[in-house]
Amino acid sequence: MRNQKTITKTVVFEGIGLHSGIYCHVRLHPAPINHGIVFKRFDNDTLIKANLESIFDTTYSTSIGNNDISFQTIEHLLAALSAFNIDNISIETDSNEIPILDGSALGFVEIFREAGIIEQDCPVKYLRIIKPFSYNVNGCGVKAEPNEKRTFTFRIDFKEDFIGEQELSIDIDEESFIKGIAPARTFGFLKDVDYLKSIGRALGGSTDNAVVFSDTGVINETGLRFSDECVRHKILDLIGDLSIFAVPILGHIKAYKSGHSINIQFLRELYKNTDKWEVITD
Ligand SMILES: [Zn+2]
Repeated sequence: MRNQKTITKTVVFEGIGLHSGIYCHVRLHPAPINHGIVFKRFDNDTLIKANLESIFDTTYSTSIGNNDISFQTIEHLLAALSAFNIDNISIETDSNEIPILDGSALGFVEIFREAGIIEQDCPVKYLRIIKPFSYNVNGCGVKAEPNEKRTFTFRIDFKEDFIGEQELSIDIDEESFIKGIAPARTFGFLKDVDYLKSIGRALGGSTDNAVVFSDTGVINETGLRFSDECVRHKILDLIGDLSIFAVPILGHIKAYKSGHSINIQFLRELYKNTDKWEVITD
């Protein structure tokens, strides 16, 4: 397969958090083999590793941590790490939410290009799907099937006809991610904004960092980046959420109308069903 990878040098970025509205500074550091993806605050030594045990919240975004230290909206950064095969990295912040940047993962692509990526002297482990496994709730779900590539298929079905049904299937590698998935932005509905703000969500949201739909269609002056930008963003979220598994999943992941909670619950159930997968290094 391949060896583990990290970045070649420390890089920094900053920006507003989508939900908290708090401005956050982030430092990304190279990390040694078998370190994994580990978060920490500038002012606190507690380390929070991105894995299933550290999941803290999955409503509206994916968070890891605990009541004292948490890291919210990590999914777009995780998706970019996964697409670039960066296995080991140390992520330091001064706030509890990773900057949303423009709502997509393009900013992270630029950051990793600046940082450079280096191969390490240790093979990566994969979780290879050997039998189909699915997890469904109320007509939504995620399924894993054996496949020799990392393939993602997503189907959404919105009652709003300006979104409607969208389906996309994509083999993920650096190039396909940069072209087809990374530019797709978070999306939401104008009618939900007051409610979200009343519960302390989307406080940093605007048309600068999200696609916003009114009752008749997109209100962003620049329009959509793809006619099916919504399903592409759902794949971005799915890649990020599934990378919480700590080892890459080798298989075909098929999702139908799922979100962060179902994506994470799917992983928990998959992990328990040990006859459906095996861990391999090559
Ligand atoms: Zn997202």
